[in-house]
Amino acid sequence: MSRLAFIGLGTMGYPMAGHLARHGHDVTVYNRTAAKADAWRREYGGRAVATPAQAAAGAEFVFTCVGNDQDLRDVVLGKDGIVHGLEKNAVLVDHSTVSAEVSRDIAAQLGGTRFIDAPVSGGQQGAINGQLTIMCGGDAEIFARSESVMRHYAKAVTYMGPTGNGQLTKMVNQICVAGLVQALSEGLHLAMAAGLDAQRVIDAISQGAASSWQMVNRHKTMIAGEYEHGFAVDWMRKDLAICQDEARRLGIELPVAALVDTFYADVQAMGGGRWDTSSLLARLQAHDDLKSN
Ligand code: NAP
Repeated sequence: MSRLAFIGLGTMGYPMAGHLARHGHDVTVYNRTAAKADAWRREYGGRAVATPAQAAAGAEFVFTCVGNDQDLRDVVLGKDGIVHGLEKNAVLVDHSTVSAEVSRDIAAQLGGTRFIDAPVSGGQQGAINGQLTIMCGGDAEIFARSESVMRHYAKAVTYMGPTGNGQLTKMVNQICVAGLVQALSEGLHLAMAAGLDAQRVIDAISQGAASSWQMVNRHKTMIAGEYEHGFAVDWMRKDLAICQDEARRLGIELPVAALVDTFYADVQAMGGGRWDTSSLLARLQAHDDLKSN
């Protein structure tokens, strides 16, 4: 049993911290909205404290899962941030999706080796089922120490190299997803417009070369027009902005990711900021409805 701290009990962090407690670790949590931390403590035991610094004090590993770069800076380097409580040999593992740059900056401010950037993929369901995919950057030895703890909520934990490489790998993941979801939406849009049975189309093609996680796991809700679940468009736009910033730094272009980002802006304008990213189909349908009126 280890003393652990978890900061950020949102959609992802709440169940992830729960897995740590269920595996018998002594877990202290902090959440900005205290009611969520209280609910977590009632469900899993452990302690809820008033600041990230208090959560970090005495912990061997500190985990964070917050929103964006600024949120991470706040909870790590802010007035009551983790840095003010982190023990000398403790390790900070960050599961937020943020820039590689902020990861490197925080690692440097903590003194080099004791930070692991560890963004996750697999969504809310993956967090609840303990089946996340985690891509990690940082010192190899520190990673080896952290891996067994992350295994409590992951099916795959991969070491990608120095600090920032976990976030760079997550960028690749998001670029691949963005283009693919638009293609899947266009395929279903044509199937429905042409009067095909969309479910039969997916049954026919999902065993072949066009198959994907998105096709297998999202086609039913897309056909039904249900988007109140999954990975939010607002988060995807944050991630695509991180990808474009990195691309600019590298002097490369990501044209499809840039185009799909504008489509996600349209979905936000439709009121779909919290909808699942597969709602690109709703955008196509709304667009063509307008044209036919
Ligand atoms: P969420 O439900 O919005 O939760 C965000 C958490 O961060 C909340 O606990 C929030 O506290 C806390 N937080 C945000 N800003 C803060 C600040 N400045 N100071 C202190 N606490 C702050 O988000 P989520 O869906 O769990 O996602 C968390 C991270 O994982 C994001 O980087 C996201 O891109 C990434 N991610 C999400 C998914 C997914 O499917 N949801 C999948 C993969 C990766 P409050 O409760 O007070 O708001």
